[in-house]
Amino acid sequence: MTPRLIIVIPCYNEQEVLPVTAPMFLEKLTGLISAEKISDDSRIMFVNDGSKDSTWEIIERLSKEDEHFIGISQSRNRGHQNAVLAGLMEAKDICDITISIDCDGQDDINAMDKMVDEYLGGCEIVYGVRSSRKTDTFFKRTTAQGFYKLLNSMGAEVVYNHADYRLVSSRVLQEFANFKEVNLFLRGMFPLVGFKSTSVYYERNERLAGKSHYPLSKMLGLAFDGITSLSIKPIKMIMGLGLVIAILSFIGVIWAVVTHFLGSTASGWASTICIICFLSGIQLISIGVIGQYIGKIYMEVKQRPRYIISERTYEKKHDEE
Ligand code: UDP
Ligand code: MG
Repeated sequence: MTPRLIIVIPCYNEQEVLPVTAPMFLEKLTGLISAEKISDDSRIMFVNDGSKDSTWEIIERLSKEDEHFIGISQSRNRGHQNAVLAGLMEAKDICDITISIDCDGQDDINAMDKMVDEYLGGCEIVYGVRSSRKTDTFFKRTTAQGFYKLLNSMGAEVVYNHADYRLVSSRVLQEFANFKEVNLFLRGMFPLVGFKSTSVYYERNERLAGKSHYPLSKMLGLAFDGITSLSIKPIKMIMGLGLVIAILSFIGVIWAVVTHFLGSTASGWASTICIICFLSGIQLISIGVIGQYIGKIYMEVKQRPRYIISERTYEKKHDEE
């Protein structure tokens, strides 16, 4: 039996690009259906992430035009990761496999063929990996590569050059539903679920229309979120640093006492100020990092819902039968 595929596509203020890419996604889906790789009731699910423009109206129109398009809408903007999660959780009970992909046409949809082939060959997760970054600016390329290096050196296990273009089976999603954290970093969380996985390589293009929602500040935010959500290495590093500084201070104290008794004490003002500044600086950074973790614990203990679906273009019950 051919598997039922749902392509999950987060959309935030994408009225320019959606009319361009939606037909491309549909063509890919119908191509896969006619190649008998996926079943005829496969779907393209748009997740409207609280867009302020006409994105939802476009999704509603598309779903009326072709039954392969379906859409859900979040009650407000919650960010890319939550939008993808909402779509995956919505899809997990009504399909066999999901593929998450951005709606801007940057990721090569032709990689989906290989992804489905890998699934049919027994893999439960297939990561879409960019084979090169030729189309990126030098700045984006270096910052993005630094991002992966930083994540891995900090103990967060991520697939190099993989963003959120991936195939995940519903079996994996059922297990993934037990990962209850609200600070989401999906690309680092899926490797933790396990199961047989592989990578498929593709070229990433320029955005077809509209503009990016991920400036450097958001990238840095995502990197920091990734590290603090997946590893406690920064806390361990602070402990190590604290230890080294404590040893140095101890030596410094002995040195100060010895020079005092030798009678060669200087006024001591400069060195005192230096030490105070240095230590208070280190302390502040450390408290800041620890504060980030406490902030996350605070968010986690609230156990607020990670997404709220306010509208659907279809009846979910009807679809589940
Ligand atoms: N997106 C979203 N919610 C947001 C921001 C972005 O659902 O708050 C979606 C957006 O519509 C797109 C995907 O996430 O489909 C990736 O965003 P974008 O292309 O702006 O990021 P980039 O590719 O530049 O990193
Ligand atoms: Mg993009």
